[in-house]
Amino acid sequence: MDRDRGGGLDVRIGIIGDIHGNLDALEAVLSALDADRVTRIACTGDVVGYGAQPSACVALVRERAEAVVAGNHDFGAVGKTALDYFNSAARDAIQWTARRLTEDERLWLSSLPPAYTCDDYQIVHASFYEPLEFPYIFDMQQAAASFSRQTGSLAFFGHTHWPCAFFDEDPVRHAVQRVLPLDPPGRVLVNPGSVGQPRDSDPRAAFAVLDLDKRRITFRRVEYDIAAAADKIIAAGLPASLAERLSLGY
Ligand code: ZN
Repeated sequence: MDRDRGGGLDVRIGIIGDIHGNLDALEAVLSALDADRVTRIACTGDVVGYGAQPSACVALVRERAEAVVAGNHDFGAVGKTALDYFNSAARDAIQWTARRLTEDERLWLSSLPPAYTCDDYQIVHASFYEPLEFPYIFDMQQAAASFSRQTGSLAFFGHTHWPCAFFDEDPVRHAVQRVLPLDPPGRVLVNPGSVGQPRDSDPRAAFAVLDLDKRRITFRRVEYDIAAAADKIIAAGLPASLAERLSLGY
């Protein structure tokens, strides 16, 4: 029974993040991971914010993920990141979310660590360089700052909602390929993309699967009911722009 959990055979870990209260997208991703018999899951943060079902997403991530780190929206919703960090639609959504969280959910979000390390990987929401300042990593220079604080060879991050990989020993090679072999000698920093609010013009939910035995990462996309998620955002009275962007993938 322990075969898929460190027994040395077929050990795969689903990497999810930037779920943003989008339960429809999260359920589709978890179904895809279940279909692939991926039993270990790690989450790069931003479980809540933007979407209409923050509590249901918190419950599912708590149940399924072996590790979760704090995103700026998670901490924004519990008063640990200042609201002036956010644009007005994000701020409206954070305040809406904060009003709906239970005390137990608030405590759980408040307790999320800025970064997490285990034998197989590290995770952080934005960057290992000042993780709670939530700087963006879009280019090699920004990645280099994070590499300076990355202690392990393989790490995952989120925040940009943009699937990509950076290699500290090969600054040129940072484009996304669907299957990424983990063969380089240096450190790797990988963004699986966003489950609940993709911004790379592909509206499908994004995630990644780390295959420890085959030494590779697969970037995955899965269709979900975007109209249902958008309708819930409108019905909740959240900013309409947050519903519209889901179908645009931006
Ligand atoms: Zn995010």
